[in-house]
Amino acid sequence: MYRTHTCGELRSTNIGIEVMLAGWVQTVRKFGSITFIDLRDRYGITQLLFGEELNDQLNENALGREFVLQVNGTVSERSSKNANLPTGDIEIKVSSFSVLNRSVTPPFTIQDDTDGGDDLRMKFRYLDLRRHEVKKNIELRYAVNRAARNYLHENNFMDIETPFLIKSTPEGARDFVVPSRMNAGQFYALPQSPQTFKQLLMVSGYDRYYQIVKCFRDEDLRADRQPEFTQIDCEMSFVEQEDILNMFEGLIKYIFKQVKGIDYSETLERMTWEDAMWNYGNDKPDIRFEMKIANLKSAFKKDGEIIATGELIHGAGFGVFDNAETVVAIAVPGCSEYTRKQIDELTEWVKRPQIGMQGMVNIRCNADETFKSSIDKFYSAEKLKSIASFAKARAGDLILILAGTEERTRKAISELRLELGQRLGFRKNNEFKLLWVLDFPLFEYSEEDNRWVARHHPFTAPKPSDIGTMINNNPVIENPADYLKHPYANIKANAYDMVLNGNEVGGGSIRIFQRELQEKMFTALGMSKDEALHKFGFLLGAFEYGAPPHGGIAFGFDRLCAIIGGSEGIRDFIAFPKNNAGRDMMLDAPSTIDEKQLKELSIQLTVQ
Ligand code: ASP
Repeated sequence: MYRTHTCGELRSTNIGIEVMLAGWVQTVRKFGSITFIDLRDRYGITQLLFGEELNDQLNENALGREFVLQVNGTVSERSSKNANLPTGDIEIKVSSFSVLNRSVTPPFTIQDDTDGGDDLRMKFRYLDLRRHEVKKNIELRYAVNRAARNYLHENNFMDIETPFLIKSTPEGARDFVVPSRMNAGQFYALPQSPQTFKQLLMVSGYDRYYQIVKCFRDEDLRADRQPEFTQIDCEMSFVEQEDILNMFEGLIKYIFKQVKGIDYSETLERMTWEDAMWNYGNDKPDIRFEMKIANLKSAFKKDGEIIATGELIHGAGFGVFDNAETVVAIAVPGCSEYTRKQIDELTEWVKRPQIGMQGMVNIRCNADETFKSSIDKFYSAEKLKSIASFAKARAGDLILILAGTEERTRKAISELRLELGQRLGFRKNNEFKLLWVLDFPLFEYSEEDNRWVARHHPFTAPKPSDIGTMINNNPVIENPADYLKHPYANIKANAYDMVLNGNEVGGGSIRIFQRELQEKMFTALGMSKDEALHKFGFLLGAFEYGAPPHGGIAFGFDRLCAIIGGSEGIRDFIAFPKNNAGRDMMLDAPSTIDEKQLKELSIQLTVQ
């Protein structure tokens, strides 16, 4: 037996008992003939006291950081207590000890504030995982996992595994592929998600499925993405959108209650995709703060019409506004007294290539209700007042205005809003705001291929009222410049996203479940009949054997954990993550394979 207790367990009520502890040496402190050691394990830290009588033995076994130690001793009251440590009232008076294993000096200190940079921490991830900061994230991940499983189990969902070696049907992201030795020249793909399998399970009658499952996407890794990531993947039969929203609103609330003790009692706000784009400039609005966009002029197609609210700004001779497709503003609360330097810095910020604006206009809404602006030359005090009132600005606010082409300008104002929200402390990571975004467009236009692509995925059903538009119109886009006028541009999807603090944490849809409509969808996406059969014949076939109406959702498990844990980064919530270049720094993967393996796989490399 190595231990009777853990290093996080003993309290003053245990004083006097004999115990055995085992763990890692965090620190060694010598005071004359007495030695103190902090012993650490997964559960905490306990102070050990080695008296004079153990000195010879200690000298023979010079103990260093991260040695694995086992001690026998008596729980004693500590003379100088440590209120910051749960075990801080006691220490173990050691009677005997043995070194179970030695350690070389670790490359960084195993403490909350480590001296290890990111690369070093990833290379020695097994040491990094010993740190309390990281361990607490891994524990939180497990708590979210357990809560999700409990809730889903209670609601009759069944965890059913689906295969990892599947067929490559790229649509959206790139597939990771795996060569097949037994079928020379052929490849499996790793699933981007279990989407078609969960739909097949519905056809098989398993009406409530879930899986906490790895998904693989060979994407260029934008900040904070992982090539393999985990989803809480769910599917239900005989449901409409409303059933799904209720079930999974229940899931997220249960997770918050179990993991954070938070009663999220409000019903989640439901916002249409159009309202999200119109008011926040993106489809995953951070509603922890207001600062909504004022659309002074816009080419955005809201409510099926191209809206222009330009009267306020037109005709003043200010070419930048007159000639722009879109002019949008935000009123930044309490910032009317920003210095010239601060405003210049913000202007430079929007001019960065990632944002891509030419410049920025500002209006200061002074406390005395006068206005001072960078466009005073063109706009009378009266006009500025009207603009301020349209932008819902109050005395003391600073109005920032961007102008340019629709897509870029809307994106830019959205980024600026988030940046200022961050700088002004409106995006607190211990505050949680959830909402549903609904009524997405079913299709997106791909300029590159001059065709429609599925905004969610090709199995998403159109809104019932839009099915006619889909069936009765030819998907071909005759005039690319006018694609917005094509009837397909207005078709709405029966799809929904769950948004948490400005992040899409879940997304799903009601599915197509009739073969004809699914075929029509593939045609709409530019697939020939043969191609559709080759890629998805199994699904089309299954739909002929009594497929029930069904729908589902998948949550991004890593991100959900990170946000609940109050962090923006997902890597610290994954035990063994990859770096931004998709490399595993610890394993040094990906790596080359040897000639023999290549030969067995009938693969010849064109790079050496
Ligand atoms: N499979 C989808 C995805 O990975 C989610 C869903 O529609 O259920 O985005």
